[in-house]
Amino acid sequence: MGLTEYRKKRRFDVTAEPAGAKKPARARTKKLSYVIQKHRATALHYDFRLEWKGVLLSWAVPKGPSLDPAVKRLAMAVEDHPLEYATFEGVIPEGEYGGGTVMVWDRGTWTPEVADVDAALQKGEVKFALHGGKLKGSWVLVRTRGAGKWAGDRKWLLIKHRDAAASTDDLTVSRPLSVVSRRTMAGIARAAGASARQLALAQAADPPRAPATASTGRDPARVPAPASTGEASRSTIESRPARRIASTRAKKRSA
Ligand code: MN
Repeated sequence: MGLTEYRKKRRFDVTAEPAGAKKPARARTKKLSYVIQKHRATALHYDFRLEWKGVLLSWAVPKGPSLDPAVKRLAMAVEDHPLEYATFEGVIPEGEYGGGTVMVWDRGTWTPEVADVDAALQKGEVKFALHGGKLKGSWVLVRTRGAGKWAGDRKWLLIKHRDAAASTDDLTVSRPLSVVSRRTMAGIARAAGASARQLALAQAADPPRAPATASTGRDPARVPAPASTGEASRSTIESRPARRIASTRAKKRSA
C-alpha cells in the first residue's frame, strides 16, 4: 500500500490530479470515505475507491456497480490513490496516464462488515456497507483466481448483497449525473476545455437521454434529473444480465 505507483504514472505539472500529501493522513476517528469516479479513459469504467489507512484503495469496474445481487461486476484492483483524489472531477489531458473525463459519480462513507479489514483484504473477501448518495446497503468484493487474460490477484468481483437496497434499477443509466456538480460527462469535459476528441468520448459515455448541461453557465444544481426509464423498457434491459448469469450457472452445473 502506498502512493509510489500512483505518482510514478503521473506528471503533476501537466495533470490537475492531486499528487497527494507527502505524509499520508493519520488514521482518523472520523468516518471512512468512499467514492466512485466515472472515468472515460481508454475505455469507460467506474473507479471504486474505499478509504483505508490514509489512502484510497481502488478498483476499476468496467460496467459500474450493479444493485442486482445476481450480477457480479468485474473489479480490477489498481494502484492506491491519495485521499484528495476523492474530490477530483475534471479532465486529465490527452497523452497523460488515464487521459479523459472524470466525474464524481457517487460518494459517501463506508463501514466494514468484517472484524479485520487488513485480514479480509489479504484473504480476498471484504464485506462492507455503503452510505452514498446513490449506493447503499451491504456489498462484497471477492478476489478471484481467474485464468487467462485476467489471471492473478488483481481480478476481483463487486457484488451486491441481498437487502433492502438491492434492486434491478441500473443506476448508471437512471442516475448518470455527478453527485457533486449535477453535470453530465459532456458538461464536465466542456467546462474543462477538453479536446474535441475527449469531448466526443465524454458525450458518448453519457446515457442517450441525459440532459445537456455545461457551457451555458446555467446553475448546474437546477439541471433537471434525466427522465426515468419506463418500467417496461427497464425490466427488459435489466433482466438480460441476470438471465445470462443464470444460464451460465446452469451450463456449469450440467457440464
Ligand atoms: Mn480510472
